[in-house]
Amino acid sequence: MGSIESNIASLRQELPESVKIVAVSKTKPLDQILEAYSVRQRVFGENRVQELVDKYSELPKDIEWHMIGHLQTNKVKLIVPFISLIHSVDSLKLLRTIQLEAMKVNRNIEVLLQVHIAQEEHKYGFSKDELNNLFESTFVKEYPNIIFRGLMGMASYTTDYDQVRDEFRGLSVLFSQLKERFGSYVPFFTELSMGMSGDYMYAVEEGSTMIRVGSLIFGKR
Ligand SMILES: *Cc1c(COP(=O)(O)O)cnc(C)c1O
Repeated sequence: MGSIESNIASLRQELPESVKIVAVSKTKPLDQILEAYSVRQRVFGENRVQELVDKYSELPKDIEWHMIGHLQTNKVKLIVPFISLIHSVDSLKLLRTIQLEAMKVNRNIEVLLQVHIAQEEHKYGFSKDELNNLFESTFVKEYPNIIFRGLMGMASYTTDYDQVRDEFRGLSVLFSQLKERFGSYVPFFTELSMGMSGDYMYAVEEGSTMIRVGSLIFGKR
């Protein structure tokens, strides 16, 4: 394991220019985040609201904070004033709450819809069928303060990398289909967030535009 700086440097070297790195800094202290910041990393991902709010208040204001973990509706108002992207929108109830709170603070909030692609039951997200049905009708119009940026998914936690690749490919196909069918309603629907430290290489090969990498940058938690 190298330094945080060198870990980021090697990742950048390896990735296509078009793939963005979300440095997942959950549980990591401020000084380690500042180390990444010192080599121009500006996008950081967190999965707990309180930790996210605390780090936002302590750290430079040009950091883009991404919420990547399951979000409870009663906590939406705490992050809506500053969040750059919510990866983990996994229900209509959550979407409606984000719309409501975004309107109150007069912001437009960028979101990804999380899709359940893994075999594990406990993972969150819409099913592919749900998403296909959702985008029909007047769906987008009900959310004037929400900018639909794309999809997010997590593959099964397994060493069966054929399965991992299949899951990523399935999500990528869904993403392309939704873009094709509804691109005119959701003009900024361009991001596909998939891939973590253990599987990002498969995700990138299957068309990921954004990888969420924690332990590979900061070391194990
Ligand atoms: C923790 C986390 C990651 C990063 O995991 P690593 O294996 O440390 O890269 C990515 N996505 C989500 C949703 C996470 O909770």
